[in-house]
Amino acid sequence: MTSYKCLLCKTPVDVDFESPYIQCTKCGSRILIKERPPASKKRVKAI
Ligand SMILES: [Zn+2]
Repeated sequence: MTSYKCLLCKTPVDVDFESPYIQCTKCGSRILIKERPPASKKRVKAI
């Protein structure tokens, strides 16, 4: 899952990929940044 966050008010936004626009539900901003889930601690295999 990919979570987004509003750049202006820092509100987490659920992105509906079926809609043509993604928009902050709180302030209406369309500037959202991708938020990486902090739980993923995957180590890269050493080749
Ligand atoms: Zn916002």
